[in-house]
Amino acid sequence: MNRSNIIELGYLVAAVLCMVGLKGLGKPRTARRGNLLGASGMLLAVLVALLDQAIVSYWVLLAGLAVGATIGSVLAVRVQMTSMPELVALFNGFGGAASVLVATASFIEVTDLGMIDDQVSVAASATALIGAVTLTGSIIAFFKLKESMKWSGFGGIRTINALLAISGIVLSVLVVTDPTNTIWLWALVAVGALLGMLLVVPIGGADMPVVIALLNSLSGLAASATGFVLDNTLLIIAGSLVGASGLVLTQIMCVAMNRSALAVIFSAAPSASTGATDPDDVYAGKVTSTSAEEVAMILDTAGRVVIVPGYGLAVAQAQHAVREMTKVLEANGTEVVFAIHPVAGRMPGHMNVLLAEAEIDYEQLIEMDEVNPTFAQTDVAIVLGANDVVNPLAKTDPDSPIAGMPILDVDKAQTVVVIKRSLSPGFAGIPNPLFAADNAIMLFGDGKKAITDITKALGE
Ligand code: NDP
Repeated sequence: MNRSNIIELGYLVAAVLCMVGLKGLGKPRTARRGNLLGASGMLLAVLVALLDQAIVSYWVLLAGLAVGATIGSVLAVRVQMTSMPELVALFNGFGGAASVLVATASFIEVTDLGMIDDQVSVAASATALIGAVTLTGSIIAFFKLKESMKWSGFGGIRTINALLAISGIVLSVLVVTDPTNTIWLWALVAVGALLGMLLVVPIGGADMPVVIALLNSLSGLAASATGFVLDNTLLIIAGSLVGASGLVLTQIMCVAMNRSALAVIFSAAPSASTGATDPDDVYAGKVTSTSAEEVAMILDTAGRVVIVPGYGLAVAQAQHAVREMTKVLEANGTEVVFAIHPVAGRMPGHMNVLLAEAEIDYEQLIEMDEVNPTFAQTDVAIVLGANDVVNPLAKTDPDSPIAGMPILDVDKAQTVVVIKRSLSPGFAGIPNPLFAADNAIMLFGDGKKAITDITKALGE
């Protein structure tokens, strides 16, 4: 077996490991093993790439590794757990940027050598467009997730996007038909970058999770197209896996959110207003606050409790405290389950990951469709750091940025305990009439402290 056979075999084994790993990630019970297998596949891929000297010299690889590892380590050490979604968005963008850089460099090299063919030019134009869209779209998504960008664009933005998309297609054709003129490729990168930015700017509220999943998929497609430029089978396979799984996730998000991906991207840009509802009208004189002791008394006699975790659970890092409270309630004979909304938190599966970290049984996590009909038979619903996912305005206010989003029907429970620090809005920036409902009481404070206090009061 010669060197090139070993390299091909290594890439093949790495690809198989990635595929088996991905399959494992499909179920909570096999997810850890799947993650390990996928990571092993990537490690093998890196080792084989180091053997495959056709890429670049070891010195260049080492320099790249040193720069990348330094930036990655600093980011990983500094990032707060609650900022993980932004970091993931940025990583998607870096994936797009890397694909653009590698594919354009390879395209220019092959063109200079006069060895350009249709496979390389078609793949390079696809990478330039998709990769650039992914890069700038992810940067905008990063700022939106950080909640430091509320701008939703300007009138006519969708028309400009349509024109940019058409220009992108025309430039792609020019790259293929006139590959020696590299200006077309650079123009394509510029158009893609502008398009990515303007596509994501008008999107917000309930549609952000769909965009995140879509950008993730695009980063995979860009990598796969780069694989065709470099003729690298592993990159084609790994990129396709990311692209396809991202598309599946996008579809799952769309179904759960009652949206279509096309509507999210191409429907009319929302107005700058965040809905017609004034917080004073919603809350003034109608909010009842409570104490941990009072909540403990209510829980003491409850037969069934449903806990609704949201982004505030992640901020408070209250998952372990919640587990302790759950154990005390169960010891008291109370049935406790968790209602999982598909977009709770700031990334798909955010709540599942947090609750799994605290070793809360997967059987206790109930999806929205399954749990909603059971709220009427629920004594207490505890809304812990969740807001938009329980906001009835999604059903009643067509101007709201979350209009049409299915919500968890906690208001049907006998008593709703809402734990959060204030009456501040959630990600969508709108008030929540649930907090003023007759059967709702508010326990103001940090999520972890509130749950710890309730557990203590239950013990007493
Ligand atoms: P929200 O963002 O609607 O609300 C979170 C609430 O948590 C806030 O109102 C905040 O209120 C409270 N909070 C913050 N810190 C604490 C703390 N330490 N203790 C207690 N409460 C706290 O979260 P949801 O999970 O309900 O909804 C998710 C939103 O994010 C949706 O709009 C969704 O579209 C969006 N989104 C989701 C993504 C995903 O993939 N899951 C991706 C992008 C966006 P206060 O400050 O008063 O404490």
